[in-house]
Amino acid sequence: QADSKITIVGSGLIGQFWAMIFAGGGFKVTIFDIYPEQISKALENIKATLSRYESQGCLRGSLSASEQAALVTGCNELKKCLDGASYVQECVPESVDLKRKVFEQMDPFITEDMVVATSSSCICVSQFVGNLSHKHRTLVAHPVNPPYFIPLVEIVPGPWTLPDVTAKCRALMELVGQSPVTLSREVAGFALNRIQYSIINECWNMYKDGLLSAEDIDKVMTDGLGPRYAFIGPLETMHLNADGIVDYCNRYAQGAYNVCTTFKPPPIMYDVPTAEKMLQEIKKAIPVDKVQERRTWRDERLAALAALKRNL
Ligand code: NAD
Repeated sequence: QADSKITIVGSGLIGQFWAMIFAGGGFKVTIFDIYPEQISKALENIKATLSRYESQGCLRGSLSASEQAALVTGCNELKKCLDGASYVQECVPESVDLKRKVFEQMDPFITEDMVVATSSSCICVSQFVGNLSHKHRTLVAHPVNPPYFIPLVEIVPGPWTLPDVTAKCRALMELVGQSPVTLSREVAGFALNRIQYSIINECWNMYKDGLLSAEDIDKVMTDGLGPRYAFIGPLETMHLNADGIVDYCNRYAQGAYNVCTTFKPPPIMYDVPTAEKMLQEIKKAIPVDKVQERRTWRDERLAALAALKRNL
């Protein structure tokens, strides 16, 4: 299987990560972009990043950085790019109209043994493939940034997606070392953002109520729930915090319910005055012009955590 070709359509941040992940799995990868100069920029960036990962000891797969870089080529003709591909990962900007246009352009070249996934963060595939003759071969495969170090991929089939397409996508993700989850049907926010927004909502409401500082709210996650959640999820937490999940419910359901009845409804849009108040606190540690630096710091720590989890 590793000699089959994978095509990336859109070679920005996420497209480049996908190219490196598939090359790490030994696949030949072709990247396409609407701007030919972006393809050259992406190829250079991929080569430099793979060699940096190699020197930092976090390169994936068994091939060297230069062997992996050699697997990735560019092509500025969509038809040629899709020719012979077994899997396509679309990574153009998050816009329904743009995704519709790109999928319409790809449709004539999609074959009956191709799987065509969109990296879309929020848009369900049914919103833009309804008119395609190959809509049954499309689905969402949503990565989490930075996908090289955060392995989750949310696979969300559309109403027409063939079960075999979903299964092939999941198998490929596992093969290249990602960690796929499959939703049975489309839902707003998929799974990760539904959980993430419920956390942000409670953080927002507690901050507005003056219960904790912004710094302390974040600490509840980074020094409390976060370390645990890097290894066990909330359902396993219930299971381990009692003699099994049923015992947990018998013991703690009433207490949890009592807490839940004090929750406020979701904040109606995260309001700017509250955000500005938070900014006054947050910018003391991370001024806005240092956000890029802090992203690099975050990605280095996520790389270290990924290595730790691999080696435990
Ligand atoms: P980006 O802006 O970095 O890259 C998009 C690329 O698509 C650019 O290189 C652009 O030139 C190219 N492009 C634009 N129009 C095109 C067209 N018609 N045909 C081919 N290429 C075209 O965007 P990104 O952050 O890589 O996001 C891509 C997708 O991945 C989006 O759907 C986004 O929601 C999703 N995603 C992003 C993140 C993230 O954190 N950035 C995380 C998960 C998923």
